[in-house]
This record gives sequence, C-alpha cells and structure tokens, in this order.
Amino acid sequence: MGELLVKSAPGCAIPKKEMNIELYTTAKKSIMDKLTILTDAAKYDVACTSSGVDRKGNGRDMGNCVSAGICHSFSSDGRCISLLKILMSNECVYDCKYCVNRKSNDVPRATFTPDEICELTMNFYRRNYIEGLFLSSGIINNPTYTMELIYQTLYKLRNVYRFRGYVHVKGIPGADPIVIQQTGYLADRMSVNLELPTAQSLEALAPNKHRSNILKPMRQIQNGIAQGKQELALYKSAPSFVPAGQSTQMIIGATPESDYQIMSVAEGLYDKFGLKRVFYSAYVGINEDKALPSVREASPLLREHRLYQADWLLRYYSFRVSELLNEKHQNFNILLDPKCDWALQHLEQFPVEINRADYQMLLRVPGIGVKSAQRICKARKTGALNFESLKKMGVVLKRALYFITCSGKMMYNTKIEENYITRNLLAEHEKLPFDKDGMTYKQLSLFDDTQENAGLFGMTEEGKKAYG
Ligand code: SF4
Repeated sequence: MGELLVKSAPGCAIPKKEMNIELYTTAKKSIMDKLTILTDAAKYDVACTSSGVDRKGNGRDMGNCVSAGICHSFSSDGRCISLLKILMSNECVYDCKYCVNRKSNDVPRATFTPDEICELTMNFYRRNYIEGLFLSSGIINNPTYTMELIYQTLYKLRNVYRFRGYVHVKGIPGADPIVIQQTGYLADRMSVNLELPTAQSLEALAPNKHRSNILKPMRQIQNGIAQGKQELALYKSAPSFVPAGQSTQMIIGATPESDYQIMSVAEGLYDKFGLKRVFYSAYVGINEDKALPSVREASPLLREHRLYQADWLLRYYSFRVSELLNEKHQNFNILLDPKCDWALQHLEQFPVEINRADYQMLLRVPGIGVKSAQRICKARKTGALNFESLKKMGVVLKRALYFITCSGKMMYNTKIEENYITRNLLAEHEKLPFDKDGMTYKQLSLFDDTQENAGLFGMTEEGKKAYG
C-alpha cells in the first residue's frame, strides 16, 4: 500500500489544504515500471489525435502548439504516435466487461503521481519524443477524485513546469462539474468516452456507467467551449476553454449494433454536441465473458476502417448518414469504400462533367478529394480541363474514370454499369492501413518510430487521397 501526497492546486474543487491520496498501488515501483504498465494499459484508447490549436512559444515557458504541425503523424484509424499516451492509473473501481483494467482482472497495477507525469512529459518533450500529452485514467476511488487528480496534474504541468504544449485529457463521467470546468481551462482537448453506441449495450457491458452521466459532461464541455469563444471575442486575455474541441470514442463489434446505428449516433454527436471527432475502436478480445465475443474472434479492423471513411464523408464531404445507409441497407460493403459504394448505388447521377459540375457534386465522385475538387473549381475558370490536368491535380483517375467526363468525353470507352465497375474497382486493390488479412491488430509502441510505422500510421497525402 503506497501513499502519495498531492498539494491541492489553487482553485481546487475539493478545498483541502493537502490531499492525502491513498493508493492501492505499491509506491516502490520505479517510474519505468509504471511507464511500462500505464502506457500499455492506455493503448486501447484511440481518441487521442490532436489538432486545431495555435499557441506560440513565449520565450519563457516550455513548448508551443502549431495547429497543423502537432500530431501530424496519426493513423487514419485514429491511433496517434506523437503524444505521450498514458493512464494516470490502471487501478479501477469499475468492472467494465471489455476492459483489461477492470477491477476483477488480476493485472499489474500502477499509479503515477502528478509530478511523475509532469516530469515524464517534460523529459520526453525536451528529447523530441512527443509533442504533447494524452492522459486518461481508471477510476480511483470515485469519478470526482480521479478527475481531481487529472486536474492537479494539468495545473502543475501548466503552472509549475510551465508546459505550453498540447494536452488532451479525459473527462470522467460522473465527476463534479466544477472539476471538469477547471480542467477544461488547462486542457487543449477533452474527451468523454461514449464507450458503446447504445444505452442498452452500455448497461450490459459497463454496469457502473450510465448514458446520462456520459452525455452530461459532454454537454457541459460543449457549452464551455461556446462560452469560452464568446469571452475570447470580447476580451483578448480571456482564458481559452478546450480550444481544440472535444472528442469521444465508441467500441465497435463488442455489441450487435449495425453500422447504420453507429453512424447515426456519430452524426447525432456531431450535430447536437458539436464534437470535433468521433473515434471508432475495433473491439479487441481480452476478457473471456459470455456477454462478449470470443477472444479468439478477430478484431473487426476492416469494419472500423469503413466507419472512419464514412465519418470522413460526414465531416468533409457533406454526406448524411441516411444517404449512405438505411433500415434495409444497415452495414457498409466491406469490399468497397463507402463513397464508391454510394456512387455505385446512384449511377443515375453519373457521369459528372468535370468542367461544369458544382463543387458539392465533384466531392461525391470517387477519386476526387477535397483538395482536388477545390483545384478543379479554380483551374477551370481559366480553361477547359482534360484528364491529364486532372491527374496533375491529384485526382485518382483509376477510380474516377468510371464517373466523369471531360468536355463530354469519358477517359476510355467504358460501361456505366454496377457489376462492371465493381469488378474493376475491386481489381484495383485498395490500400488498407493494416495487414493483408485485414484482421490483425497492431499497437504502435510509444518508442517505435521506425519508417515502417511512420508509413503505416502516417496520414500522408496519399493516405488522404484514398478517401477521395
Ligand atoms: S472505467 Fe471501465 S473502461 Fe475505464 S478503466 Fe475502469 S473498467 Fe476500464
């Protein structure tokens, strides 16, 4: 039984001069042991990409944020490589059936002190290993207590260690709203995990969690962000609140929801809670439990990939879920990306004339991404475009050629017929962000930045084009 003393930060929601935090974990564990346990324990959380914050270095404190530069190597499936991604603790008083850290599991346990996290973050940052911190935690004692520890850590990191880099923390459902609020003024991004797409599934697999407890802090953060923006518009020096927005995560494949249900929930979260990102985490079988798929069942990574592609279509291509899926067609075609699948179901809208189609229609053409659609709109003002110019603009012609004409002509004499195009698109061999069988699970190690992983997980231009 170890003991940890944490000084209460000013403005702390739990007004004690000194918090005496009893931990179940042994204090004798070295920081390296803790790091090994707590980075490994954090690997199932995928809601950790970062974006959207610009904060210049001030010559006194450590670090800065560049909206486009931070966490620039992140996977299309959401796994991040340049944040120190750790748990504060893998102690947990809850018993979520799918979780490696649930209280009924016999696993090595560890808990960091706030100072240990601050020191690790600063040391890794100085060595250029990371560009920020992603901090989550199991539930120690109770949600407020855990959130308070996270707040203490951030308070120290910002005010004692003077770290100005990117920080993403979890909002703990059920925690005192005051602590969530205080944390929001120190974090760049916060995420409250939805965990499972429906309330029934949550009840079945995470009996200690309740949908309303999850949606409440989400709403609070949404309101805080809106208020923070208003205050910033009025007073330049107003503190920013969660400036990189909030995100959430759903586990996919542990419960029977269809893609239609999952994407409808995601769309609702974007529309009603103003979320920046929804992450989909393919279920990885760890615990034997009759309420869960067998641990021998492969992780549904290809399904996860399709959900990310569809999510991309919602956020950047103005698609609605009802256009992609419906009651009769509940799941994505696993063989084709959702945009190609949509185009094949709507062949009456094709071919699209590149020199006349509006921007929104260009976005719907397989092989044309946001950048290439913008380039087309700009370039055709000065003259008619041909296939050669489209290629130069980054259009993936081997996919687009079935759906477009340039000055009334198709690229080849090709049929606009569903089976024929499907066969040809399948022959093209889509690049997938995982191994050939589509079902292997590969977790990136914090310290492994080999070329292989950079290529595998980096969101390269080519990778982005794959969504075109
Ligand atoms: S709250 Fe549930 S998911 Fe989170 S660490 Fe505890 S058991 Fe795991």
